[in-house]
Amino acid sequence: MRIPYWLIVLAGIAFMLLNGNISQPLSWVYTGLFVVFYVFSYVQSTHLWRWPFTRYATVALGFALPLWYLVKMRFNLSWSTYAEEMINYMILVSLMYGYFKIQDKDRRIKDRLFQSANWDALTKVQNFAAYDRAIGYEFRRSAGHDADLSMVMFDIDHFKCVNDTYGHLAGDEVLKRVASTVASTLKAIDPKVVLYRTGGEEFNIIFPNYDVDQTREVAQRVFDAVKNLTISYNDVDINVTISVGVSALSVKDSNPLDFYKRVDANLYHSKQNGRQQITVG
Ligand code: GH3
Ligand code: MG
Ligand code: MG
Repeated sequence: MRIPYWLIVLAGIAFMLLNGNISQPLSWVYTGLFVVFYVFSYVQSTHLWRWPFTRYATVALGFALPLWYLVKMRFNLSWSTYAEEMINYMILVSLMYGYFKIQDKDRRIKDRLFQSANWDALTKVQNFAAYDRAIGYEFRRSAGHDADLSMVMFDIDHFKCVNDTYGHLAGDEVLKRVASTVASTLKAIDPKVVLYRTGGEEFNIIFPNYDVDQTREVAQRVFDAVKNLTISYNDVDINVTISVGVSALSVKDSNPLDFYKRVDANLYHSKQNGRQQITVG
């Protein structure tokens, strides 16, 4: 957590006011040291240096020694009490370190799980599970608010040929480049429009608040972007095209699957009609 440095200074001054010792120079030295300690610890925590525990414990001890020494002077404590306090403090510091380490690991595992559950590892766009959740949500939102909702579905033409001619790894490269080209085209037009890899070489794009004409325009730009893309792989240049289906949500769609089927039927029409085209309906 990032607390602004000035807030730490302010908290120190407030603490002195509360204790009624703001006029004592020793209290100012204590507060000053404490603020420097905080800054040091914070900077330390933002870097991935080697020996993190040794560094953390050294900083903690380096500041605790003078801070507790000030307390010892102020309250005339014995050296044995001072030593005891330091030992207790270092035990607490070690326990805190362990606690934060566990918390950090836990957070990282959750992040990774979330990432692999919703994102496609090859193309780095969202996957079918994410699509399924998003279309369910958008379907309910559109029906509830009477808002527009459109969808584009596309499939790479003769993709099997790419695999058969240049190899599966070349096919993977084509998938990656098509996905990133379409994703960046969409991002430049409207970041709220999201691309999903819903099958092997099949993708869906959800357009919240778009009617069919607005969507048709974006579909054309996606189509052109893929058509103009040349993928270089092992000294060969590969060009691909896509077949596209476009549709808007209709009152007849009683669930997201009905909507999906209509868009899919339009895509199928593009394929049947000679590929490399867009069918809107
Ligand atoms: P159409 O124009 O009718 O779409 O023909 P197509 O060859 O693109 O379609 P088909 O469904 O016959 O072939 C799709 C191929 O996509 C088959 C499968 O091996 C390949 N594929 C699916 N996922 C991947 C992948 O992740 N990497 C690669 N390299 N190929 C994949
Ligand atoms: Mg295909
Ligand atoms: Mg396919």
